[in-house]
Amino acid sequence: MIISIDGPSGAGKSTLGKMIAKELGLLYLDTGAMYRAVGLAVLEAGIGPEDTDSVVKVVRNTKIELKEIAGELRIFLNDIDVSDQVRKAEIGQIASIVSSIPEVRRILVEKQRKIGLSSEKGCVLDGRDIGTVVFPDADFKFFLTANPETRARRRYEENLQRGITTTYEETLAEIKERDIRDTSREDSPLRIPKGAILIDTSEMGLKEVFERMLEIIRKKTSTSRI
Ligand code: C5P
Repeated sequence: MIISIDGPSGAGKSTLGKMIAKELGLLYLDTGAMYRAVGLAVLEAGIGPEDTDSVVKVVRNTKIELKEIAGELRIFLNDIDVSDQVRKAEIGQIASIVSSIPEVRRILVEKQRKIGLSSEKGCVLDGRDIGTVVFPDADFKFFLTANPETRARRRYEENLQRGITTTYEETLAEIKERDIRDTSREDSPLRIPKGAILIDTSEMGLKEVFERMLEIIRKKTSTSRI
């Protein structure tokens, strides 16, 4: 079973993706972490994220792997676990720029399809192009969204808990900037996939969204036995 969760930054995709995967015994793949790993590799190589040719060279020569450790998929860059490092806001911004390069997307999408299909029971993938490009025939497609202010507040609180110091205003500006980049890029822009179930989480608690998603999945699987 393949479940895709798309949507803008801070809509709760990764938290809910992890919860759904755990509940149903599926693999969880955070595709954003892969773009973030590319962002980190670019930063470490000392090249500008807009320098397309150099970025593509870095991606081709970098080993990006996902390994399951203690039930969690961790991201490795040239054999080093960078799962925590890639969460920094600076890396998110670089990831957002390099993710508009078609060759970067082609390489990562291929990896994502391989990982998604490698799991016997199935996989929950979250990102921006999962239901449109990576797995357009996914069994369940969700599109989670919320207004920018709500998403910025959630991201800001998450950052505080992680010990990352930013302001709410900075976080909101970053979210708006990323929304524009994600929806306006030419290759695989953020769109509501055909047949996706749209959930606006602005006024909803995590548990409520989780239960709604689960109910949708259970209703269909109990009748069609996916
Ligand atoms: O989801 P997250 O914020 O970790 O993703 C980092 C960046 O990677 C996003 O801003 C987006 O531009 C890009 N991304 C993408 N396609 C995906 C996942 C993430 O373009 N499937």
